[in-house]
Amino acid sequence: MAQATKPGEFEIIARYFKPLARGEPNALGLGDDAAVLAVTPGKRLVATMDTLIAGVHFLPDDSPAGIAQKLLRANLSDLAAMGATPRWYLLSLGLSETTPESWIAAFAAGLAADQAEFFVTLVGGDTVKTPGPVTVTVTALGEVAPGNELLRSGAKAGDAVYVSGTIGDGYLGLLAAKGELSGLSPSFRQFLIGRYNRPTPRLGLGIALARLGSKDRVHAAIDVSDGLIADLGQICEASGGLDAQIELGQIPFSEAGGVAIASDSTLALKATGGGDDYELLIAAPPAVESTLLELGRAIGVPVTRIGALAEGSGKVRVIGPDGREQTSGPGGYRHF
Ligand code: ADP
Ligand code: MG
Repeated sequence: MAQATKPGEFEIIARYFKPLARGEPNALGLGDDAAVLAVTPGKRLVATMDTLIAGVHFLPDDSPAGIAQKLLRANLSDLAAMGATPRWYLLSLGLSETTPESWIAAFAAGLAADQAEFFVTLVGGDTVKTPGPVTVTVTALGEVAPGNELLRSGAKAGDAVYVSGTIGDGYLGLLAAKGELSGLSPSFRQFLIGRYNRPTPRLGLGIALARLGSKDRVHAAIDVSDGLIADLGQICEASGGLDAQIELGQIPFSEAGGVAIASDSTLALKATGGGDDYELLIAAPPAVESTLLELGRAIGVPVTRIGALAEGSGKVRVIGPDGREQTSGPGGYRHF
């Protein structure tokens, strides 16, 4: 088939990305060298970036809209974990010679849908050709009032550990997507795969936590991307070397996750260590518990206490239903 009509870099930007910048006049229609953004006076700019690479983070024939949404949502989850309100994002596309225009169109359509859902606007980016695998990067920008940002570093001995939503759906969804968990009903498989492909950044909860008054402040927060155990370890380390103890029996699993785990009890620990849940993990003094649980109910995202922090050296212990420490938990995904 003739490729004569294949759009160049500027046509791609004009056709697929300029429409996504319409909501922000200061993006200058993606027609200048850069956007000139007006940060809300008195707010801090919160910036984060994530990259997905074909063959590493997604399969070349995965849905382009799904890839776009997973990329944007992973960034929004980082903003949620800081307590920031998302405003803008930038997009870097490293496309290969053979990427069809239909892929770009579907990718942009995925972004358009999520822009409407999460109230963010594309304000810039870069479009290049790569001899390597397709590589897509989003930089997300949000705002938070100074002092309201949720850090990893403020946790204290005696804090309780809480998690939003359900844990393990990301890990189990990946298994289901790979054709495992064949004993599960189609609707449960679909649910888990959906949670893996289209995570829900907990923006409402993160923003509400950031706005709590000084009496109800949580001490630390992180989003669960590498795995609950590894990410809790990040809070412990950043907070000066605390130890965490979590109860496997308290981990909130979804209905689908619970059924999968009931068929293979080794999955409970694996799901707790696996990544891609994009839930919020929170350290807070026990006195704040009723506020946290109430907030979860009001927002419609349950918050569950799963353990506690103590003086220590940065270790995370998982206690099984028999009261004994579980040993071989996966330590989370690491690139290096
Ligand atoms: P330069 O060569 O000066 O970097 P570009 O041609 O890369 O300019 O980009 C021109 C404009 O288009 C810039 O405002 C840039 O932010 C925007 N842009 C380029 N690629 C994208 C993209 N994939 N998504 C959003 N904006 C883009
Ligand atoms: Mg450029």
